[in-house]
Amino acid sequence: MLYLIETYGCQMNKAESAALETQFTEHGWNCTDDPERADLVLINTCSVRITAENRAWGRIAYHAARKRSRKFFLVVTGCMAERLKESMRKKQPAIDYVLGNFQKQAFGLVLDAAARGERLPSIEESPVFSFAASHLEQGAFRSYVPIMHGCNNFCSYCIVPYVRGREVSRDPEAVYAELDALAERGVREVTFLGQNVNSYRWSDPNRSGSGDLDFPGLLRGAADRVRQTGIRRLRFMTSHPKDLSDETIDVIASDPLFARHVHLCVQHGSDRILKAMNRRYTKAYYLEIIAKLRERIPELSLSTDILIGFPGETEEDVEATLDLMREVRFAYAFMYHFNPREGTPAVTLPGVIPDAVKKERLARVIALQKEITRETMRSLVGTEAEVLVEDRSRRKEGELLARTDRDMMVVLPGETSRIGEFVQVRLESLRGVTFRAQEVF
Ligand code: SF4
Repeated sequence: MLYLIETYGCQMNKAESAALETQFTEHGWNCTDDPERADLVLINTCSVRITAENRAWGRIAYHAARKRSRKFFLVVTGCMAERLKESMRKKQPAIDYVLGNFQKQAFGLVLDAAARGERLPSIEESPVFSFAASHLEQGAFRSYVPIMHGCNNFCSYCIVPYVRGREVSRDPEAVYAELDALAERGVREVTFLGQNVNSYRWSDPNRSGSGDLDFPGLLRGAADRVRQTGIRRLRFMTSHPKDLSDETIDVIASDPLFARHVHLCVQHGSDRILKAMNRRYTKAYYLEIIAKLRERIPELSLSTDILIGFPGETEEDVEATLDLMREVRFAYAFMYHFNPREGTPAVTLPGVIPDAVKKERLARVIALQKEITRETMRSLVGTEAEVLVEDRSRRKEGELLARTDRDMMVVLPGETSRIGEFVQVRLESLRGVTFRAQEVF
């Protein structure tokens, strides 16, 4: 039996697709890229923006059209499936299953039924989210490891708490067991994932295992677990500023296993807009955390998300954001303008910013960030860095793509046999936002 999987959206979706692929393999299925041969097509969707949903509808329509001439199963999962549930099948009857975020534990049953050519009449929903045991993509040497799921923050523009539910932390013993398995399979770098990793908190229901554990405790435990293995780098994302504790900063600062990079979403630089976004921190508080991080880890690189054009935003608010960017000097940022998301409180806020104004403001934010990124990277030319070789370059034969622990991309000459190795390089020049480097012997 052959399957085809399409994944859209965030790292959590990528990790969950990798876990679903493990289930395909365990149930005897093989992967294909050819939609004309697949016995089951699985689309893992994103709901964070309406454009992501429109794209998913386009892909669903594409596969649905193929069902007119050929029999196969069409399954939709992910946040859009969770948000729209069975209404998706009403709109597109060619869909066989709409598998919400709390129904993935039944995926094995779906596969077994599909192998028999049958369709299950219904799928049970689990009351709590259950984590898969493994999230490793086949043959990969970097892996995501989800440590928590859901979000309690209810930022006023965000759909995540409605489609992923309340925060659930993963049993640390399951996290450590996954790390052991990844180390055994040659993984070199792990990124702990969650919508809000800093609020990780495990309370052992039996008081027999690891006891109560918070995020810095989990990081310490994980670092001790992998120290003698081939896993040489640990990262985490995404962090909410209000929950990034001094203790977490201390753990990162004191252990070189943790990458010298933190992604800390600021979203905006105006207190008035941060309040309307329900972010629950001020610009001053955010800058205080940045100062602590920089003091404890001077070589740290920082990245962020910036959301511009929020309802009620004035020119002064935009200036406050540009000022914050000039002060922090993020290495890079994901920048986007506000689009009302049906089902979130921000949809009804007054003071909607016209599209043309949003775009013009976003263009200014992007231009400033590009300048800061270039200056930051230029200042590193001539220095040495340890990089993890990730892939071969698609542009030029004999070149490899690698990443520094500050999360900056590097191209260096080398054989593909080096993929998966840590290499010491000298950053020789800069092309766009990628360093050209040479190995140092
Ligand atoms: S912290 Fe805010 S933006 Fe992030 S997932 Fe939770 S609600 Fe959404």
